[in-house]
Amino acid sequence: MPRPDFPRTLLEFADRFPTEEAAIDYLVASRWPDGDFKCPTCAHGTAYAISTRGTRECANCKRQVSPTAGTVMHRSRMPARTWLLAAWLLVTDKRGLSAKQLQRQIGGRYETAYQMLQRLRAAMVAPDRSQLFGLVEVDETLIGAPKRGRPERTPADKAIVLGAVEVRTGKKSFYPARIRLRHIKHYRKELLLGFVTDVVRPGSHVVTDAKVDYEGVAELGYEHGCESTSVGDDPADVLKHFHLAISNLKAWLNGTFHGAVSKKHLQAYLNEFMFRYNRRANLHAAFQRLLGLGMQVRGPEYTQLYASPDDNDAWDHPNR
Ligand SMILES: [Zn+2]
Repeated sequence: MPRPDFPRTLLEFADRFPTEEAAIDYLVASRWPDGDFKCPTCAHGTAYAISTRGTRECANCKRQVSPTAGTVMHRSRMPARTWLLAAWLLVTDKRGLSAKQLQRQIGGRYETAYQMLQRLRAAMVAPDRSQLFGLVEVDETLIGAPKRGRPERTPADKAIVLGAVEVRTGKKSFYPARIRLRHIKHYRKELLLGFVTDVVRPGSHVVTDAKVDYEGVAELGYEHGCESTSVGDDPADVLKHFHLAISNLKAWLNGTFHGAVSKKHLQAYLNEFMFRYNRRANLHAAFQRLLGLGMQVRGPEYTQLYASPDDNDAWDHPNR
């Protein structure tokens, strides 16, 4: 079976997945594209379809493998169609959607919608994603808007987010390409420089503000440029691709989630923002990509989402 195509409109979605069987066929094609089954027990490559739920039986050791076992849909009682609709809505709407909005579309309990979204977010970081390269703006920002009727939060209440934006040259001007964002619990220079070496390919031209902590960047194998307001520039012109992306991020957090994203789960939302931002030119193809990734990773169990961050069982949102 070839890698599946993807619906572009809600009407196409309804035509593409008129039945639960059609949705399961799509999951099977996403999990085992071109029929490349690999048995989790014996690594054998041939299997037979044995049920309408898409389950395959290994031709060698007879192990039965559900297409959703070990994926973001692991042991979910939600129909495959509902999962596909949630993934499609999540990816194709530029504003994404909150658990409340998803619950309205698919029915059921709020907690179920919430867990589905968190599981899908776990599939929004490709394990093999590449480093940014070329011209890259790097800076940090504070996330956490003041709540209405409450005093302005102090910086200590806000979350520190490190960001890097790759800037490419278009026909007439520069434009932002891909973005990487990482939430850190406490600010340390080593974390800042570690972020740069993780997400930016050596040899790139890294542009930062004039903060002294960035002075180490040049020693890490990058060309280092500084943009500073002290020379009389308009602050809006300093690292402007970074600041534009961050203002989009903040508008999204405030608009879709009313600023109610906790620090504990902030990285999941950063991952979602990155996923959509980096694929904004083709959000419908991103649906296919999300399903492909979602068939390779397991998302959080409900209890893992609610465990205290210090608990061993707490879910760590992927952050590579
Ligand atoms: Zn086997």
